[in-house]
Amino acid sequence: MPPLCWRHHTLIQALLSRGPLKESEFQSIFSDVTGKSFDSHQQLFNDYLRKINMELSYVQFELRACRNQYDSGVYYGVINTIADEQSKLGSKYTVPQIAFYKGIIEAIVQDPAAQGTISNINALNIRLENQGTSSQVPTAFKAFSMSQKEKTIQELVHDQWLCDMSDGRIGLGVRSFLDLRSWFHNNEVPACDVCNEAGVKADLCPNESCTVRIHKYCLQAKFSQQRMEKVCPGCGTQWPYVMAKSEAVEEDDTDVSQPPLGPAMRKRQKTSSNGPPESQPPENGQPSRRRVAVKVDYDGAGSSQEPSLVPRTRRATRNSARLHR
Ligand SMILES: [Zn+2]
Ligand SMILES: [Zn+2]
Repeated sequence: MPPLCWRHHTLIQALLSRGPLKESEFQSIFSDVTGKSFDSHQQLFNDYLRKINMELSYVQFELRACRNQYDSGVYYGVINTIADEQSKLGSKYTVPQIAFYKGIIEAIVQDPAAQGTISNINALNIRLENQGTSSQVPTAFKAFSMSQKEKTIQELVHDQWLCDMSDGRIGLGVRSFLDLRSWFHNNEVPACDVCNEAGVKADLCPNESCTVRIHKYCLQAKFSQQRMEKVCPGCGTQWPYVMAKSEAVEEDDTDVSQPPLGPAMRKRQKTSSNGPPESQPPENGQPSRRRVAVKVDYDGAGSSQEPSLVPRTRRATRNSARLHR
């Protein structure tokens, strides 16, 4: 196979140095380097991503796309598929900081209401001693002060592992949505009934004995089809869903075909991804243009043997391909 050309390298470099990038930004970089518009060259775009992933896979990196579940925006990033926390969070974070991060994401994904957030106070009250890594310097955990926790939250928000929500609570950052796909799966975070991605921030079936949860943007895609009954796909309970007027006319078909890059579904969805990451999902009925989100999901390349980000039993193994030094 011919090596990657400078155009591929520019795309990778943009994600490494500036990523994760919003879909629109990444597509415009693609247009800049190829001289081809994304809208009329989606196949070329997908070919680029596939080729990049072939090469990145040799060093256990992967270019992938994900949705920010709070605002439904699509982001692209390069992630490290060797899932030990040292290689993911780099040398920037200390062991107690990483344990604190793990505690926060565990609390967030365990939220039974699937709001996908935690209050600042509850985050600060997370006890590192409970993080199940008893062999790892418990004294450093005990000495981890409130102000260190506050500072760590700020750093994690800055690096997009966490995000500040508009209501002052803390949610997962885009980097976590990109990076934790296997971790969500291994930790049995309930999946969205429509797209099968973890339902960290999702709407719950109104029937309390039913476990179905669906992302708001997946609900929109599903229920905006005129013929579709607004009922839970699991238990058949009426699902209270008010459609914005602009939605009904746009969604005339449901092309849930396979993407070129992996087993995940390709979804057609209307999003408004131009807002800030903290913004709420678009519920104001603004007309939004239709777009196709292609998940760059390369899980087929061996996610089953991919270890969890949070090594409950496993010690970190050194990754020779570390990004951060
Ligand atoms: Zn979904
Ligand atoms: Zn249900």
